[in-house]
Amino acid sequence: MNMPLQHNYFDQFRALPEANDPALYKTLLESTMAIPWKIDWATMRFVYIGPQIEPLLGWSQDSWISVEDWASRIHPEDRDNVVNFCVSQSVAGVDHEADYRALTKDKGYVWIRDVVHVVRNEAGEVESLIGFMFDISERKRIEHELLKMQKKLEALSFEDGLTGCANRRLLDERLQVEWNAARAVQRPLSLVLLDIDHFKQYNDLYGHVQGDACLVQVAGALKQIGLGTRGIFARYGGEEFALLLPETDEAEAQAIAEQCRAAVEALQIRQDHSPFAAVTVSVGVGTVIPPVDGEARHFCDAVDKLLYTAKQAGRNRVVSTFSA
Ligand code: GH3
Ligand code: MG
Ligand code: MG
Repeated sequence: MNMPLQHNYFDQFRALPEANDPALYKTLLESTMAIPWKIDWATMRFVYIGPQIEPLLGWSQDSWISVEDWASRIHPEDRDNVVNFCVSQSVAGVDHEADYRALTKDKGYVWIRDVVHVVRNEAGEVESLIGFMFDISERKRIEHELLKMQKKLEALSFEDGLTGCANRRLLDERLQVEWNAARAVQRPLSLVLLDIDHFKQYNDLYGHVQGDACLVQVAGALKQIGLGTRGIFARYGGEEFALLLPETDEAEAQAIAEQCRAAVEALQIRQDHSPFAAVTVSVGVGTVIPPVDGEARHFCDAVDKLLYTAKQAGRNRVVSTFSA
């Protein structure tokens, strides 16, 4: 059976003589990882700062005299924002916190989180600020690493692993964006689809590894073709590539497509059983001013049909709406 509690459990500790000993609190404050400090509001001078500040930043405890010392030891890029924010919050009597890079004596920087409590007197006027500085450099380093990793992952998710060019995912996203943009301003949008001729035969003849090397070489040549600032070159599928060409009319798109075809032929990648004795591509090119009720995927299907026509017509050629 539980005995009823006669007293508040914590009373026993309050009764300890050490509980009223200021030295106890000083020892406690000065053994924490966080660095305590106090600033008198009227004079804007430090009343106290913990000795832990010296091992962290190198500046001795007695070098922290006024808020000027604090402000001058903030990274110049952070200083104005942090000082303005802390002053305005303090004037408003609001507890706050700020992250900034603090200057070390040997001219390095340490990320600090300063957590500030505004102390008021009985009349409600601000009397002092007390706070704790936390060393958050490790957290910031991890945040930075995570951000870098996230950016890399984002880039990788839009990149084709074999050829290093944009992948189908990026192309689909950009196609939708450019489709909407072209529709809004009623400007032409062109799409070029390229497919390597007799590539199954190439693999059968030379093996898959050499097939991969061939894809890399073809992509390398196609990457060199100038597409304008918003143009995109992507691997569309296995041995299929695509160029998305905003603000490009039929004649310009057909000229670019022909450059692509010629560039692959010029590589003269040997393919004994091909009628051309070398690796070639067939190309379909379409241009559209997107109609209000049109859809990008129907445009893609139409260009794919032009590519099919190029295959039917003997391969190693360009078929466009312009030439059809
Ligand atoms: P066509 O001229 O009609 O396009 O004939 P094709 O043989 O190129 O067409 P098909 O679609 O029948 O075959 C495409 C081949 O591309 C099949 C596949 O083995 C090969 N392929 C697709 N992706 C890769 C890849 O990543 N690496 C290699 N080495 N081959 C691939
Ligand atoms: Mg194919
Ligand atoms: Mg093919």
